Amino acid sequence: MSQEGTIEAGSRYDLRVGKSPDAPDESQANDDSDGAFGYVHSYETSSRYDGPGLRAVLFVSGCLLRCTYCHNPDTWHLKDGTYISAQRVIERLGSFAPALRSLDGGLTISGGEVMVQLGFTRRILAGAKRMGLHTAIETSGFLGDRADDGYLSVVDLVLLDIKSSDPETYRKVTGRDLAPTLRFAQRLAALNKPVWVRFTLVPGSTDDPANVEGIARFVAPMKNVQWVEVQPFHQLGAFKWKAMNLEYKHLDTATPTAELTNRVIEQFRAAGCNAR
Ligand code: SF4
Repeated sequence: MSQEGTIEAGSRYDLRVGKSPDAPDESQANDDSDGAFGYVHSYETSSRYDGPGLRAVLFVSGCLLRCTYCHNPDTWHLKDGTYISAQRVIERLGSFAPALRSLDGGLTISGGEVMVQLGFTRRILAGAKRMGLHTAIETSGFLGDRADDGYLSVVDLVLLDIKSSDPETYRKVTGRDLAPTLRFAQRLAALNKPVWVRFTLVPGSTDDPANVEGIARFVAPMKNVQWVEVQPFHQLGAFKWKAMNLEYKHLDTATPTAELTNRVIEQFRAAGCNAR
């Protein structure tokens, strides 16, 4: 059994590996567990980017996708995260809560994938709600079937990463099926749960006009989708792939030009989405 560690404030771009060598494999993570303990990569305290207002962002470990352009491959495995109690995370969050509340912000849990550790993230989100904080999760939606309505009741906003509208492209860039993400998006729409769709624009991988058009047409009728955010690919996480001896396919992929980014934003707008 892992010893409880401490998480230090840091950045999503800090490389963290090998913190809990005896952790289970993420594919075996027990989502029925009561979630008293879990595995965490790091947290940031002052993001203006991951939801409304000022955000504390907790990056949890474990992801079943393998996006070729992932900025945080050190969040894929539970064994790379720090083992910690939900209670300790909630206590730490409590010290920031007054500032977050006064700046109309809250807590965002990202990763990794929040639904790998469903019980753990549920506890933390519920703790944040008890402090009167706005809550958000960032997710690929791949494990959306795991999240019951009780889980979603402690989530005010879902940042839903839709990486492609084309199943083949989706599989190529993530290694997984697209269908669960679309199913989760439709469920969120039926629940009228606020969503910001996030789309990572990767030249040569996801920038095909038909691919963008497919997401735009899927999302445009959904009244719960408040924003579509186009996120240009960058190389800030590239060093992690090298440090972890992983084969990185995007060494030569350029950051999207302003023209390309604008073309994609305009495609979303033309379909009727609020895009930025
Ligand atoms: S879903 Fe996110 S954390 Fe998982 S591999 Fe893709 S980019 Fe990385």
